[in-house]
Amino acid sequence: MKPLLGGKGANLAEMTRIGLPVPPGFTITTEVCTYYYEHEKSYPKEMWPQVKTAVAATEKILGKRFGDAEKPLLVAVRSGARDSMPGMMDTILNLGLNDDTVLALEKFSGNPRFAWDCYRRFIQMYGDVVMGVQKNPNEDHEPFEVVISSLKSELFPGQEHVEDTKIDVNGLKELVVRFKALVKERTGKEFPSDPWEQLKGAIGAVFGSWMNDRAVVYRRKYNIPTEWGTAVTVQSMVFGNTGEKSGSGVAFTRNPASGEKVFYGEFLINAQGEDVVAGVRTPNPVAELAKIMPPAAAELERIRKILENHFRDVQDFEFTIEEGKVFMLQTRNGKRTGLAAVRFAVEMQKEGLISWEEAVQRVPAEQLDQVLAPVFDRAAVKSAKCIAKGLPAGPGAATGRIYFNADRAVEAAKRGEKVLLVRVETSPEDLRGMIAAEGILTARGGVSSHAALVARQMGKVCVCGVSALNVDYHAKQMVVSGMTIKEGDFLSIDGTVGEVYPGELKTAPSEVIQVLINRTLDPKESRTYQYYSQIMKWCEKATRLAVRTNADSPSQAANAIAFGATGVGLCRTEHMFFEGNRIDAMREMILADNVEARKAALAKLLPYQKADFIGIFTALKGLPATIRFLDPPLHEFLPHEGGAQAELAKKLNVPVKKISDRVHQLAEFNPMLGLRGCRLGIVYSEISEMQARAVFEAAVEVQKKGIKVHPEIMIPLVGFPKELQLQIEIVNRVAAEITKETKVKLNYMVGTMIEIPRAALVADEIAKDAQFFSFGTNDLTQTTLGMSRDDSGSFLPKYQELEIVKQNPFAAIDQKGVGKLMEMAIALGRQTRPDIKLGICGEHGGEPSSVKFCHRIGLAYVSCSPFRVPIARLAAAQAALEDKKPGAKKK
Ligand code: PEP
Ligand code: MG
Repeated sequence: MKPLLGGKGANLAEMTRIGLPVPPGFTITTEVCTYYYEHEKSYPKEMWPQVKTAVAATEKILGKRFGDAEKPLLVAVRSGARDSMPGMMDTILNLGLNDDTVLALEKFSGNPRFAWDCYRRFIQMYGDVVMGVQKNPNEDHEPFEVVISSLKSELFPGQEHVEDTKIDVNGLKELVVRFKALVKERTGKEFPSDPWEQLKGAIGAVFGSWMNDRAVVYRRKYNIPTEWGTAVTVQSMVFGNTGEKSGSGVAFTRNPASGEKVFYGEFLINAQGEDVVAGVRTPNPVAELAKIMPPAAAELERIRKILENHFRDVQDFEFTIEEGKVFMLQTRNGKRTGLAAVRFAVEMQKEGLISWEEAVQRVPAEQLDQVLAPVFDRAAVKSAKCIAKGLPAGPGAATGRIYFNADRAVEAAKRGEKVLLVRVETSPEDLRGMIAAEGILTARGGVSSHAALVARQMGKVCVCGVSALNVDYHAKQMVVSGMTIKEGDFLSIDGTVGEVYPGELKTAPSEVIQVLINRTLDPKESRTYQYYSQIMKWCEKATRLAVRTNADSPSQAANAIAFGATGVGLCRTEHMFFEGNRIDAMREMILADNVEARKAALAKLLPYQKADFIGIFTALKGLPATIRFLDPPLHEFLPHEGGAQAELAKKLNVPVKKISDRVHQLAEFNPMLGLRGCRLGIVYSEISEMQARAVFEAAVEVQKKGIKVHPEIMIPLVGFPKELQLQIEIVNRVAAEITKETKVKLNYMVGTMIEIPRAALVADEIAKDAQFFSFGTNDLTQTTLGMSRDDSGSFLPKYQELEIVKQNPFAAIDQKGVGKLMEMAIALGRQTRPDIKLGICGEHGGEPSSVKFCHRIGLAYVSCSPFRVPIARLAAAQAALEDKKPGAKKK
């Protein structure tokens, strides 16, 4: 039902079906949204009569009438996309109020303050959302809030932080008058009094908000297709603001930050739902409800259990208590941190709510990043002074320069600064700033405030509701614990415990890293590690696709193995040349005028290469290693700047001119398409010879120590079968020589990268010689799309904005284009060599959607950077489980 009714509409219907208390209403489907945008923002002709019928049905259930002067029906008009987009689209509450119905509501409820409070809220929301009365670019506060503040200072002179609930009925009546005047002043129009006109406006505004800037930004970030559209739910109002026996709240069936199984959330007495979420007043923890309203608390506890048992996942729900009675306004699967996702999955499996296969699928692979996220160094925290505390809303440790405004935060991040966004409270307009920031800090708002929700989902560090912060937007500074901190100063926040520290604190790796990589923490001491490791064990059981790593050093290889990598899928040998004074020998080789001089320089490089390979083979303990021969254009190794050239000239005892000439000679218009890859080994075969010798001599030494070695020599940038044949000849000749010299049998393979389109197109011929293919999707993307991988940043963001590409093709495989070439190469390669070994070593090998694609097209392994190995393993296991689902396509 979700595609049609949206998440909110579908779950409201579901809760009604299982007997939970839901206020009556109806949902206008997402199909209408699609129609609306395809027909110049008009509606199908059946819609309005159907709305009227549905309103009549609601009226009948409640015994109220829309626009009635005696018993008026008031409704909420809410958006609801298929996937929730918290706070991105618009909502209008208390619709149906006007100067007449407000009197009826006053009489009916016996509570004039309540009635006028509803009315002023309605004008405020409708004025903002439907009529566009919003803050101008240079204003820091909403215009309606400015009106409220100025009335408060007239009514309570000299008092600060007066709560809205202190404004009495006459004050609220005055607000209604001033709000209407504000609407007239800003829009030139009267505020509409006809409820049907109000309803039409509200429905249009909700559909319209599907295309607002923040919703578009959000969809782009989370890859939600525009064509899904939003539904509109019209629901009768229940009131949390009728007095002290009423309230509103937001709760999670378990803690969405830490994952702990405790009822979690917050509520406000005498308030409507948006007060809780907007963070204007800081709410109370839901546990306190038991003291204030025991029956309502017991009812919520009952609902909490029913929800988890029915939806079999942690729910995030909104409720209203009207005169002691609980109503459910919404439920959805709760957004959670990576940490919580892992813990929920493991614990719910133990409780018998879900199977282990479901547990694996419950953890979004990219969220594992957060489990591996850094924490503050314990010693640094001990010696630092915590200057304020707030709510821990998004775990992890973040340090950066503070900015008080989203745009300035974005600008600073563009300049390469690490940024913390500090706001009194955040609103969806701050989204860009939040994306740019390492962490978010707010003075007001609770754990379900917009800042907290969005931060959690983005995996951002977030501390909110830090009331000790005294933010002055105008002076661009804040005062906290007697300290004045200016925009641009460093600050550190700990979103796991909710603490704020001045300056730049040192960060330390996550517990998983401490256990697995640094080995400074006993696994028994770390629950986080235990949950993580349980998920990984299940992954092992499910998966088919192996995960290797891209590693150029023994320590990188060892890290990746600790994360569960089953070998090295790409060792970029050139990375070894940049260390220490090896680069000198490399440069000498490049500057050599003839074969002899080049060979002499290569002879200096050989021991370095050999030592590195010995290290890697030893660390791998018998696991395979794909070693790629030299790939980048040679000028990358030479100094380009005058001073450095002079220094090198002195070192090598050659004239500076010789160096600058050579640099000039090697420079290419597009170095990525020039003298690089196997072309180097073909023009300078002695380079390949040296590299083959280093690999095999290292293999011999390590084998002699009793460790098995499986080198897979990989030739880069092959497009013609002959290129590969020439390189294989060298490799085989050197191998034979070394076996002859040492009497040690070598166990190796030779294969190629598939990274230019021609290689994919003639893969059947290439497979005659190649024992394996490894897709170099970085270059394959660059050459297939004709987009430079180094400067696509200048246009790709625009391409994503316009949805020319859905995702950055250098991050997630372009499945239709590059993916098709891969499938073609696989089919052709297998025609010639049915058992050809297939893998990928482009950066895509650690990106979940690409990993799943690689599983589907039948690769044997993906290879990615060490810290992405856990993510790739999880994605690979999920892909295997998706295969088993009924209805899954058989390969
Ligand atoms: C590739 O092109 O995908 C690849 C792995 O090689 P590199 O990134 O080193 O060019
Ligand atoms: Mg490449």
